[in-house]
Amino acid sequence: MAYDLQLKNVGKVYDNGTPAVIDFNLDVEKGEFIAFLGPSGCGKSTTLRMISGFETVTTGDLLIRGQRVNDQPPEKRPTSMIFQNYALFPHMNVRQNVRFGLEVKGLPKVEADRKVDGILDKLGLLDISEMATSRLSGGQRQRIALARSLVVEPDILLLDEPLGALDANLRKSIQNELKLLQRDLGITFVFVTHAQSEALALSDRIIVMNAGRVEQISPPRELYTRPTTEFVARFIGSNTIIPGTVRTTEGQTITLDTAFGAISGTNRIEVAHSQGEKMSIVLPAEAVELLPAETDEDTLRQSFGANIIPCRIERLQVIGHIMQMLVRLENGETINTEGHVDKYRGRLTVGASAYVAWHSGGATMIA
Ligand code: ADP
Repeated sequence: MAYDLQLKNVGKVYDNGTPAVIDFNLDVEKGEFIAFLGPSGCGKSTTLRMISGFETVTTGDLLIRGQRVNDQPPEKRPTSMIFQNYALFPHMNVRQNVRFGLEVKGLPKVEADRKVDGILDKLGLLDISEMATSRLSGGQRQRIALARSLVVEPDILLLDEPLGALDANLRKSIQNELKLLQRDLGITFVFVTHAQSEALALSDRIIVMNAGRVEQISPPRELYTRPTTEFVARFIGSNTIIPGTVRTTEGQTITLDTAFGAISGTNRIEVAHSQGEKMSIVLPAEAVELLPAETDEDTLRQSFGANIIPCRIERLQVIGHIMQMLVRLENGETINTEGHVDKYRGRLTVGASAYVAWHSGGATMIA
């Protein structure tokens, strides 16, 4: 398999001794949309800057299309970077800003003009091409930064929180544009963000980072429903974590002894676990069902086995076709969940007892 980008045991220690990135491994296929997601200071930007060449690699190897680029300066790499503040030249108009990179490369005028017109057209900027960038809106400036990075026809586009400066509505519409553009161009995008909604909406795969290390690499849905570490389970989505010790293992289903009795979930990773070992069950809000306390116990057991926990309903709210529900377990922990109104309306009452239930397949085990 030929990869566009590979990081092999890449590490970064800054001169002051800060280990910013530790043993980072990743293979990226051509045309993938990759997001680095994690809290501030976890090493996302440092990793992106190492890929771009604006930061040196301390250990390990960085490969672009199979070629080691550790010692190549940024302008020699087939990458282009968009910074959070866009770094547009205020004294140049839109066209001059977009053209700049091609001039640096010494492209003949006719060819440069053709490429600039092409990308301005693609991004809907032709009409404003003679305007000063300082007079334009955030969304337009964002598009100019994109045009400027794409006009040099990079193999890999690197984006450092490029939507951070935009308001929520604009973010949403530019997110869609970005995704369509990336599909259209078929080039690899590597995107840094601390906003999970953005990473989940845009990426083919998300790399969750924590304190310089990779926690998990997964497609968005899998990350959401199958976190492999406690950090990811707490950082992404809306999960309830119930600790316990292993009682039995049956294929991929593991049953734990917990404060709520014996309950089970699915072991995503093929690792054997022995009786008595400490593990936790991660229960995504999406996997939880709520049932009224009157529900026949045999029916409950038939559907959910032992995965039934008593709770009290604290809040019910209907938004469109969705009912949002907040319940409290006996240990004080709360679970936010939601479901289609047709399924729940008239069956649940605030203040009443109920059951939280789930199928073992919907819950994930973490060690
Ligand atoms: P993120 O992008 O996830 O917010 P960064 O990559 O910016 O994280 O930073 C990772 C760690 O490296 C942090 O502890 C940060 O303080 C440190 N760091 C970043 N840049 C430098 C630098 N130029 N010199 C020293 N330490 C740095």
